[in-house]
This record gives sequence, C-alpha cells and structure tokens, in this order.
Amino acid sequence: MDYLWSPWRFHYVSAARHGEGCVFCQKARADTSQDRTNLVLYRAQLNYIILNLFPYTTGHLMVVPYAHVSSLTDLDSPTLSEMMELARDAQAALERAYHPEGYNLGMNQGTVAGAGVADHVHLHLLPRWAGDANFMSTIGETRVLPEDLATTFEKLVTAFRRRA
Ligand SMILES: [Zn+2]
Repeated sequence: MDYLWSPWRFHYVSAARHGEGCVFCQKARADTSQDRTNLVLYRAQLNYIILNLFPYTTGHLMVVPYAHVSSLTDLDSPTLSEMMELARDAQAALERAYHPEGYNLGMNQGTVAGAGVADHVHLHLLPRWAGDANFMSTIGETRVLPEDLATTFEKLVTAFRRRA
C-alpha cells in the first residue's frame, strides 16, 4: 500500500534497510527537545507514547516500552501495568479530541504477524469510525489521510495534558 502523505517514509525505510538501529530506541534516546519532531506525545517512567508515522486512522498511536525486547513475555509487570495505564489515558485523550465510535488495541508480534518493527514490542491504539477503512482507501491501494500528523500531535498533546 502506498501513502500520499508520507514525507517521512523514505527516510524511515532507508534507515531500517541500512541497519541504523531500532527506531523505537532512537526516539526514546533522542533529546526531549526533539519530541515534537519525533511525534513523541508523552514520556512516562517505563514507556512512552508516540504517533504512528503511517496511521491506519487519524489518532493512531503506540505505547512503547523503553526496554528493547521483542515479546510481550519479556516485559516485567511494572512496565506492563504502566503500559496499560498509558493506553487508558491515551484512549481518554482520543475520546476528548476525536469522539471516535470504537477502538482497536493490540500488538503485532513477529514479522509474520504484521509487526513493522519486530524486535521492539509496542502496543497499538487506533480510534475507529464506521466505514473508516472505506473512507481512507481509494483506487490503486493509495491511502489518503484526512489529517496531517502535526495537527494530530497538537490535538492529542493538548488532550493528554488535560487528563485526570
Ligand atoms: Zn528498540
């Protein structure tokens, strides 16, 4: 599938191809002054929240542990607890910002299961609307995104700040 709105795609793909390391570890280690550029919405003790560069729907984000591990079974309980708390808070922020009709929450583990970054486990949270897949897909398997990532970032940063 191709993406019309994909200014990051070439860099992202070529960096991965040249083995320049794990993109989730790079974002985690980057200076916090770069968080807006890197689409890092929030940093907690053991995990952080980042917008997906290639969102399936507007507001598609991920909760990512700082630990570079490939499987759910490698995460300790404090990390998992915080991960779910952040998913809860992120969903509340999505609710305030977008009023979606539903959500998908899940992990793709392993390339065969569809993981884009298979060696660093991450939890996807996607807001859903009736017919969103039809709405966003057009002829030729090109996905048209209804909102750019910078706009989404601003909305969710604001909504996340207002969380309980
Ligand atoms: Zn990593």
